[in-house]
Amino acid sequence: MSQKIIIAIDGYSSCGKSTLARQLAKELNYIYIDSGAMYRAITLYFLRNHIDWTDEAQVQEALQQIVLEFHPNSNTGQSEMYLNGENVEYVIRDLVIAEKVSEVAAIKEVREFAVHQQQLMGVKKGIVMDGRDIGTTVFPQAELKIFMTADNAIRVERRFKELYAKNPNITIEEVKNNLELRDYIDSHRDVSPLRKADDAVVIDNSDLTPEEQLRLAKELAMKQAIQSY
Ligand code: C5P
Repeated sequence: MSQKIIIAIDGYSSCGKSTLARQLAKELNYIYIDSGAMYRAITLYFLRNHIDWTDEAQVQEALQQIVLEFHPNSNTGQSEMYLNGENVEYVIRDLVIAEKVSEVAAIKEVREFAVHQQQLMGVKKGIVMDGRDIGTTVFPQAELKIFMTADNAIRVERRFKELYAKNPNITIEEVKNNLELRDYIDSHRDVSPLRKADDAVVIDNSDLTPEEQLRLAKELAMKQAIQSY
């Protein structure tokens, strides 16, 4: 016998968190939430509307204009990010957003706004959420916490391949610099910095295939789900 649990997956950029989280949610018939997409969508809104995010009043006012929703893609079944009714799943993956998102995600009001919504999504459990602070701040009570790591060169290569498919002008240096900068800002900010929760299980997937990491995570999830019953 088992019961639905909350699974938090955290780690540095491009460690394969979202691939694992999405596959795991599918296997378990859970909801998958990509919390990074929410910070990316907020950044897109700020950029489009020329919000000066160093100005607290402007940030507060802008956040009141933002509605974030996830809806499944009718072809792939995968959940996609909507900003004020517009599907922004593709545009938020751009390097222009990646270059600013960690600055925006470090703002206290932005985090409160996103974390509150993320916590509401987990009320009924049966959720896999990936991000940077899921096991520490969003769901410190999560039954299973995974902290993913991977070799730096492998992470850069993975992200480069992804971005190059969309923009062949991109260089490996740009991607490397962006990952390093985001990791630095994410782990040094004042409000819920990226760190491994004390009770998180570390998965280093440098040498694991997607199938192997999924099998490992699924075993951990099943064990926790049975224990929580
Ligand atoms: O996961 P992804 O790389 O799409 O996240 C984009 C950015 O959003 C991260 O670099 C980080 O700055 C921020 N983020 C965060 N907390 C989360 C998820 C993402 O600060 N839970």
